[in-house]
Amino acid sequence: MQNFEKNASPDTYFGCNVFNENVMRSCLPKKVFEAVMATRRMGTPLPRDAADSVANAMKEWAVANGCTHFTHWFQPMTGVTAEKHDAFLTPIAGGVTLDFSGKELIKGESDASSFPSGGLRATFEARGYTAWDPTSDAFIKDRTLCIPTGFVSYTGEVLDKKTPLLRSMEAVSRASVRMLRMFGNDKVQRVVTNVGPEQEYFLIDKASYDAREDLILTGRTLFGSMPPKGEEMDDHYFGNLTQRVSDFMRELDVELWKLGIYAKTEHNEVAPAQHELAPVYTSSNIAADHNQLTMELMKKTALKHGLVCLLHEKPFAGISGSGKHNNWSISTDDGQNLLDPGDTPQDNMQFLLVLCAFLKGVKDYAPLLRLSSASAGNDCRLGGNEAPPTVISVFIGDDLQRVLDAIESGKPLEGFGKERFCLGVDAIPQFRKDTTDRNRTSPMAFTGNKFEFRMLGAADSISCFNFVMNTIFSHEVTAFCDELEKAEDFNTALHDLLVRTIRETKDIIFNGNGYGDEWFAECKRRGLPNYPSTVESLMQYDRPEFVAIFEEMNVLSRAEITSRKEILLDNYSKIVCIEARTMLDIARKKIMPVCISYTKQLCDAVNAKNQLSPSLNVSTAVEDALVCEISDLTAGLFEAIEDLREQISLAGREQTAVEKAKAYRKLVVPAMERLRTTADALELLIPQDQWPFPPYSEILYNI
Ligand code: ADP
Ligand code: MG
Repeated sequence: MQNFEKNASPDTYFGCNVFNENVMRSCLPKKVFEAVMATRRMGTPLPRDAADSVANAMKEWAVANGCTHFTHWFQPMTGVTAEKHDAFLTPIAGGVTLDFSGKELIKGESDASSFPSGGLRATFEARGYTAWDPTSDAFIKDRTLCIPTGFVSYTGEVLDKKTPLLRSMEAVSRASVRMLRMFGNDKVQRVVTNVGPEQEYFLIDKASYDAREDLILTGRTLFGSMPPKGEEMDDHYFGNLTQRVSDFMRELDVELWKLGIYAKTEHNEVAPAQHELAPVYTSSNIAADHNQLTMELMKKTALKHGLVCLLHEKPFAGISGSGKHNNWSISTDDGQNLLDPGDTPQDNMQFLLVLCAFLKGVKDYAPLLRLSSASAGNDCRLGGNEAPPTVISVFIGDDLQRVLDAIESGKPLEGFGKERFCLGVDAIPQFRKDTTDRNRTSPMAFTGNKFEFRMLGAADSISCFNFVMNTIFSHEVTAFCDELEKAEDFNTALHDLLVRTIRETKDIIFNGNGYGDEWFAECKRRGLPNYPSTVESLMQYDRPEFVAIFEEMNVLSRAEITSRKEILLDNYSKIVCIEARTMLDIARKKIMPVCISYTKQLCDAVNAKNQLSPSLNVSTAVEDALVCEISDLTAGLFEAIEDLREQISLAGREQTAVEKAKAYRKLVVPAMERLRTTADALELLIPQDQWPFPPYSEILYNI
């Protein structure tokens, strides 16, 4: 870290690596600047000559800040970002000039066949385009000007995670402005969705990481018995930061601030070695870009401190996994948060309509929300006693529940929201209680003026959840508008619609403990859909009613949905296959040999004891018992290895993406679990200095 940054106040360098509104205002001709702002605020297309002017200004700014290259920065279906660097150089007689045209800014070309396309692209028709997203700021990373872009195929199908998100934000704006007009608001022109994603992660020592093939190849430990101390003392949550972690967080903050990312809150999480970073919320598209950059910078910055940042959803079995809480809200260009209930939600018809659209969307399209958080990694986390269950429900809290009950029953609501907190210490001011308590067990919790979706895995892109949420919300709002605009008496029609929707959506609301067994029984009774794994949930993607709303809201076409389903299933199979092969490698080449050699040591000890004079009557009972136990387990290990090999080969024979994924889930995953159980039992019996990789206790309590 440069010294000036260590000592400087963040406001002096915040966003210094971003071609943001301030920079544009100072370096673009006024007309061009206004055209860019209109594009940002209203989505109006940017004229070509304005693009040329922006491109030139971007290049001048980037070169002045040490850049030599530019890249279109995009988010293909691999889940990580992609970039292809081009130098600004153009040869001229006698030398070079630095060039960057509007054409290069607006459109890039890329080999689409090298990215997952789910059948949309064949190698012989490989052309794909990256298209500039003027709503997200260009920025500098590694002396390269990065231009946020969408990624589409030659024939126009979307191949990335950003474009559907942008389309879904358009849909929310269209539907919400239409709704606001019904309430007499003629001013609002644009409505945006916002996201504040809280990011969990683990930090471990680089040396421990390097000693574990499973972490290197798969991002999670595939073996490892529980350490003697886990999370039972609750002493890590919000605990003091160690110097090393604190240094890491400070440097990460500076790096993020330079990129204009509002990193705000950092603390230790529940599990040992687990931490969280929460940024201030911003519009969904920018939040998605920023979250990708945050994950990338977490990894890079950790390395500078001799640490490795693990973003896997479940790096250590038996220890809490890492999620990403997606706080979602909708705001208007006249400064309203449409999810803010205000002081008297019972009279706030606009809020109630928005809430009802949300609840109805979640009820009718729960499988889509479920699949937006589906991944092989998240399968290890969801439904455990630390993360939300795999069934979607919504927590709205007692206050809002009373409001909905009152509307449904037509009875007045008394004493609402008046409660104040008093801590019993005069010096501490009293404050109004939040309208909802926290419910950490709900997949989707109302938290005062936003909904927090808690199912996403730590490594996930937030785009899929947000474009799904935006699509279903826009669909419901549109349907409500269709109904209410036709009504002769708006107020009566609105009241009837609210009562009807409150009744229809009762089953999706659950304000109790989502981790309890009673809830699982109750879910069944209510008939709520439960897709326990990624494979079952992805199978729902192209159900006709889902295709219909994606097409209606102009977010994804049928072909794009089919391709996404294929890509995600294929990705699942590949991940499980790599994990299974890694397990085989470790079990055969590392675990089996130490088991055999330790058995031999024990046998040698027995033999040595037996050489002693019988009159000493030395017992070999302990060695005998250990040899028996270890031999049995080693035989079990051998069997489990052979079994896993067999299951991998069976799954590999399946032809389609769907059948393959099903086979990996049904055959390979359980075989991996069997192998792990046996190996973990052996870990408890073999001397630590002989076990081939560091144990959990060393990895988790070492920084
Ligand atoms: P938690 O109690 O879940 O840990 P935090 O207060 O740490 O919550 O984090 C809340 C997150 O929600 C932050 O990222 C914050 O920016 C975000 N947030 C706050 N208000 C909104 C809003 N209106 N819309 C979207 N996100 C919001
Ligand atoms: Mg949270």
